[in-house]
Amino acid sequence: MKFTRKRGIVAAGVAAALVVGVPALATAADQHPDNTKAAQKAVVGGKARNVILLIGDGMGDSEITIARNYQVGADGRLAMDTLPMTGAYTTYAVQKNNPKLPDYVTDSAASGTGWATGQKTYNGAISVLPNGKPLPTILDLEKKAGYRTGDVTTAELQDATPAVLGSHVVSRDCKGPQSMGPCAVNAKENGGDGSIAEQLVQTKPDVLLGGGKQYFDQTVQAGRFKSLSVLQQAQVTGYNVVTDAAGLAAAPANKPILGAFAKNNMDLEWVGPAPTPKNTPSTTCQVNTARAESQPHLVDMAKKAISVLDKQTRDSNKGFFLQIEGASIDKQDHAANPCGQIGETVAFDAAIKEALKYQKDNPDTLVVVTADHGHTSQIVAAGSTTTGATATLRTHDGADMTISYATAPLGTDQQHTGTEVRIAAGGPQAANVLGVTNQTDLFFTMKRALGLH
Ligand SMILES: [Zn+2]
Repeated sequence: MKFTRKRGIVAAGVAAALVVGVPALATAADQHPDNTKAAQKAVVGGKARNVILLIGDGMGDSEITIARNYQVGADGRLAMDTLPMTGAYTTYAVQKNNPKLPDYVTDSAASGTGWATGQKTYNGAISVLPNGKPLPTILDLEKKAGYRTGDVTTAELQDATPAVLGSHVVSRDCKGPQSMGPCAVNAKENGGDGSIAEQLVQTKPDVLLGGGKQYFDQTVQAGRFKSLSVLQQAQVTGYNVVTDAAGLAAAPANKPILGAFAKNNMDLEWVGPAPTPKNTPSTTCQVNTARAESQPHLVDMAKKAISVLDKQTRDSNKGFFLQIEGASIDKQDHAANPCGQIGETVAFDAAIKEALKYQKDNPDTLVVVTADHGHTSQIVAAGSTTTGATATLRTHDGADMTISYATAPLGTDQQHTGTEVRIAAGGPQAANVLGVTNQTDLFFTMKRALGLH
């Protein structure tokens, strides 16, 4: 108490001295207002009607800064930078054979299982404990409690981050009924719940949008839907299946929607230079003209998902839970593709903007923006080389930014990193992301916000 008072007095004294002694600085003070009241106002407890969780896969602080510098300049702000509460969370996984020990560098499966279930697990696990036991997910619990749910990604829908919400398998590779090699225990023909594709459809979120059509096209091997494709299983059980942007735009809100818009991951937004050991001449990114026009952009999927879930819940006392993933930030970081990575981050930011727009009209919505793990890319001195490969981009500021990829030899997959990552939020219960938390804490934050027990 004493300390606070003393600090307060000192601060007031400094402010007064600035105003009186150097009038020119008064303008600078206006530009740096005391945010105490705004921060107090932003602390909202109570219950949320809706939760929108936005995951930038592999979107560490470095990836955010690179995208910001390039797109809006060093002094600019992305939509994700405007959330009122920002904290950091640790992302580590645990070792499969000794779950008491951390695995410091997580993958998307273990990290996603963390916020989807509140439990740490091993790399590769999709919402199962290290012993293979399935864990109820936040989406499972919300469905049970009568909430509407959605799961949106630019990756294959069977990829780890979308998969952790609606399936439980011992390996992330078990994406379709004919890809069950590593998951015999989960296979339908062995009495399990089936592949990720089958389980997603069985869990039946109201909105499922992304890529991965090849796994939905695989043939179910056993059970009631034997010999059908998973996509046919989805149709038989009530899904409106759409496969392009026009189909998505036309899809009515009164039926669950499964949108599978690409065989694998969805196409990239931007293209640009490949980094080299000797750096590259400064250049800019280009729009990917090879991108299939039939594929909706992430922002289109986000808008549709929010609008459908909003319509479906308008006359209900229960709202919705929606996860939206910008998946290829991670994938292009792995590929050491700076423009690919930035384009996906900018596209993800556009989806965040939509979520914030919805929240403005519906303040009882908790919006959380975070990542599952850090990644390779680093901003290094302009024009420099590193032990890896670098590329230089001319940014929005008109300055050169050199990006290094050096966590693996050039030409091989760049690696995730074990750093903590940003978590930002606004709306009811958002204050629970403040400080340093754990990715597993996010499960409890969202659960509490929706009043689930
Ligand atoms: Zn990755």
